Amino acid sequence: MPFSKQGTDTEGRSALKEAQTQLDRAAELLSLDPNLAERLRHAKRSLIVAVPVRMDDGHVTSFTGYRVQHNVTLGPGKGGIRYAPSVNLEEVTALSMWMTWKCALMNIPFGGAKGGICCDATKMSRGELQRMTRRFTFEIFNFIGPDKDIPAPDMYTNEQTMAWIMDTYSTQVGHSVPGVVTGKPAVIGGSVGRREATGGGLVNLIMSALEHLGLEPGKMTAVVQGFGNVGSVAAQELSRRGVRILAVSDVDGGVYNKAGLDIDALIHHVEWKQPVTAFSGGEPVTNAAILEIPCDILVPAATSGQITAENAPRIDCRILAEGANGPTTLEADRILEDRGVFLIPDILGNAGGVTVSYFEWVQDSQQYFWDMSEIQGRLEKIMKRAFAEVMALSAEKKVGHRMAALMIGISRVAEAMRLRGLYP
Ligand code: NAD
Repeated sequence: MPFSKQGTDTEGRSALKEAQTQLDRAAELLSLDPNLAERLRHAKRSLIVAVPVRMDDGHVTSFTGYRVQHNVTLGPGKGGIRYAPSVNLEEVTALSMWMTWKCALMNIPFGGAKGGICCDATKMSRGELQRMTRRFTFEIFNFIGPDKDIPAPDMYTNEQTMAWIMDTYSTQVGHSVPGVVTGKPAVIGGSVGRREATGGGLVNLIMSALEHLGLEPGKMTAVVQGFGNVGSVAAQELSRRGVRILAVSDVDGGVYNKAGLDIDALIHHVEWKQPVTAFSGGEPVTNAAILEIPCDILVPAATSGQITAENAPRIDCRILAEGANGPTTLEADRILEDRGVFLIPDILGNAGGVTVSYFEWVQDSQQYFWDMSEIQGRLEKIMKRAFAEVMALSAEKKVGHRMAALMIGISRVAEAMRLRGLYP
């Protein structure tokens, strides 16, 4: 079950409780100073704003928007903005906490933040989305900035959303400030390769995992849940490396083809605003069933809380490569670990996005832009290094890959906090 409007799934778990439980376990294994652990359990700053928007029919709807900065010890806050009905303070806080660990794991000088608006973006016109984005930016104006907190795209936001945020912020400041967001179009200071970075980075890690396990990409099959930015790029990159993509899905359901889907044709199909289920190159499959299709590589790239204690015993894959944030609950984690599934945990798996966001921010501050091969080369190097560090700590401490990744991220942030001390 996905986490609901209240930030909890039907079994009463909340994304935030899961994130805090992970922190508690990592703190115990790291023998972390309890005073530092106490500080890390809470977000530094949370802002809730009303976002009144004149809808196309003339009436006004007030949406609720959030921006949470969990920790800014290592640098400005960094994290996406999502537009979804599930968005609430708990979910955004949990996601901001995961951003803190992720940036530290990748050795990127950013803290963790996240934002969003509780809305159904799929039912809004372009004009409504633009007015909502601009008003939200205005409401959080004092909170964000290239040295304070830098938003990026997430679920149901994209390059265009970032362009509107950048424009609104720049209008208030009085000059162009490209570094206020990442994931913007290249022509206004975006980076080449940012759009493909999350899915592409995940595929770099999958290739490292296959090498580690002695498996050949050309003999592998994969299933991808979610066919947006992350899922479509991951499916395309896997397919280019010879992996047979058996099934993909979007929010309405999926398509399955035992012989393998034509991913380029499917990407072309969804570019015309068609749901994946309307694709003629496969049979329909539900979102629940897609996760249980036997395959070598399963890529959840949609939303949180998809793999639970209920369906984990039926998940049949060798590698679980998490593109989405928090797709697997803690109980499901234990079940899959016991069954020997090789996990690429979310804070590592989808960190390609924030890594190239960091490159974008560096390029904006220098006003000097790199080419695609430089971006891809640097990204691959950082992903491989983080993968090797997670594997090494997992083996040394005899902990799962998720815990190893969390321990690396948390220990780096905690050490920086210890050195900086507590004010006053
Ligand atoms: P997106 O909006 O581009 O795509 C989301 C996809 O998931 C769409 O195909 C949508 O139809 C589908 N979807 C939504 N709810 C679903 C559900 N309940 N079941 C099945 N499919 C569902 O979003 P995205 O940017 O690709 O993000 C996907 C995930 O990756 C999110 O968890 C996000 O936090 C994470 N992520 C994204 C980035 C990035 O750079 N975009 C970076 C890090 C993590």
